[in-house]
Amino acid sequence: MGTVSDAVHYVFLAAAACFVLGLHLMNHPRTARRGNTVSAGGMAVAIAATVWLVAHQGTITLTGWLVLACGGLVGAALGLYAAREVRMTAMPQLVSLFNAVGGGAAALIAVADLLQTGDPAALGARVSLPAALDIVIGAVTFSGSLVAAGKLQGIVPGAPVVFPGVRLLDVALPVSFVAGTVLLVLAPDSRAALFGLVAVALLFGVTMVLPIGGADMPVVIALLNACTGFAVAMAGFVLDETALIIAGMLVSSSGGILTKLMADAMNRSVAGIVVGGFGTGDGGPAAAGGAAAQVRSVSADDVAIQLAYARKVVLVPGYGLAAAQAQHELGDLAKLLTDHGVDVSYAVHPVAGRMPGHMNVLLAEADVPYTQLKDMDEVNPDFPQADVALVVGANDVTNPIARRPGNAISGMPILDVDKARSVVVIKRSMGHGYAGVDNELYTEPKTGMFFTDAKQGLAELKAAVGEFVT
Ligand code: NDP
Repeated sequence: MGTVSDAVHYVFLAAAACFVLGLHLMNHPRTARRGNTVSAGGMAVAIAATVWLVAHQGTITLTGWLVLACGGLVGAALGLYAAREVRMTAMPQLVSLFNAVGGGAAALIAVADLLQTGDPAALGARVSLPAALDIVIGAVTFSGSLVAAGKLQGIVPGAPVVFPGVRLLDVALPVSFVAGTVLLVLAPDSRAALFGLVAVALLFGVTMVLPIGGADMPVVIALLNACTGFAVAMAGFVLDETALIIAGMLVSSSGGILTKLMADAMNRSVAGIVVGGFGTGDGGPAAAGGAAAQVRSVSADDVAIQLAYARKVVLVPGYGLAAAQAQHELGDLAKLLTDHGVDVSYAVHPVAGRMPGHMNVLLAEADVPYTQLKDMDEVNPDFPQADVALVVGANDVTNPIARRPGNAISGMPILDVDKARSVVVIKRSMGHGYAGVDNELYTEPKTGMFFTDAKQGLAELKAAVGEFVT
């Protein structure tokens, strides 16, 4: 038995190395797929080793094996189906649902452990403290992530939902789950403390996320992801499972770093976001009725001439590109221009789209050369030299009002598109972006608005540019 247990621990160590290596490879779009495979391989090996250990210990019944097999098969089938079928634009909801499932599963492990232990009162703080933390964080993550997924899917209003007393609840609930945690650690056999804690944590997840506006969702998703990792690590302590502890802490720490980076990219503090969000969810028509009259409309031929005679073009993809699934058309247009000798680059804002890394994934899917991808800090100094900045379905991340105080996106670092010599914006209407504010870029004299669906507009542009350059 000792030998098997030792061997399994070495396997866990190797799996942990795979997780770390996988995370490292995910640093760059070129190696990200390999990183995913290495991490998934590590997890598969860790699961196989756990099953081996359990089989050797001989503590599991036939029913237990059946439940394990059914759970594994159903989970794997659902995960595979969701990952293959979900549209790229719905990825954030899927990530949020994965967070919910991870947090909920971790909380259930601790609940089951406390309910099944013959003498819970005899449990030391070494088990009862992580169990209580697992329940609190896991349950908050479960309900909070479901609300976040609902907001992103449009089932729950994207605008901050604030009702009388919600702030009071946001203070009262944490106080009560701190009290519940202490009670459960001191008396792990108390069913009232156990179920009370679950109920209070579930309620807090809902009241925490409801008042947060749509534009803050990237940070909230990253934060909930970090919480899932923490809950899983606590479940690892409860079960004494090294692989869970390592995997959970890696998710928790990388999620925490991502949360900070996303908050910085929006010039917000994480605490400020959780305490009171902004943003109004997916945009409707522009409020300023006069704005539409002041804009300059352009046609595909107008834009094609500008592009064909430009020396430097910066492409600015946004959520509309993802919604239209127009990444291949954009890649084709860029290739045509590059082959014609134009210096082309893509400006990728950290929160362009609806989830962290959304644009990089889409552009990688369209086989865009990585050398042409530039992040915000790298590309902003290039805009003044750009003959044309072609904005495709991006709105908030290009809005100059972010530089002024007193509006929903104040302080959010933006792409300096307005500093380019000329600007072309492809979008369907004067509709708002996610933050629900008018974009001053559209009314600037140097901006031409090409009102069309991104996929169709880019296909027209490619054909029109083709006529000039061939
Ligand atoms: P925005 O949401 O600001 O704007 C997208 C624009 O795309 C809209 O104004 C819309 O205008 C246009 N659009 C939609 N469909 C199409 C289409 N088929 N063809 C052409 N245009 C289309 O996008 P950005 O990428 O600029 O900014 C992202 C926003 O999302 C930020 O506010 C960010 O905070 C938020 N967010 C980001 C997350 C992340 O992690 N990246 C997660 C959640 C939210 P029209 O209707 O007129 O066509």
